[in-house]
Amino acid sequence: MSKRGRPRNRLVPLPESDPEPVGLECICQRQYRSYQCTKCGKHFHGRLAEICKSHSSVSYLMDFRCCPYCAADTVFITQSDLSKEAILKRNAIN
Ligand SMILES: [Zn+2]
Ligand SMILES: [Zn+2]
Repeated sequence: MSKRGRPRNRLVPLPESDPEPVGLECICQRQYRSYQCTKCGKHFHGRLAEICKSHSSVSYLMDFRCCPYCAADTVFITQSDLSKEAILKRNAIN
């Protein structure tokens, strides 16, 4: 009879911090939102152009760099509560 060592459950040490650095957040997949231009009052749906910290060389052509109606700078653009449908309806009437 051979003496076996006590079966030991190997404890996997919990990592104290995440192994992969998640400090840099990726905003490439962010949601489309509704916006309103405070200069011309128009609403629109999409995304404001922002530089992703993780992919600073990537830019999305569809993102707004200014108001699509009056070309106001993004500082004049605020988030809107309107739904995409409401915006489409509004813009169809105007
Ligand atoms: Zn990204
Ligand atoms: Zn505008």
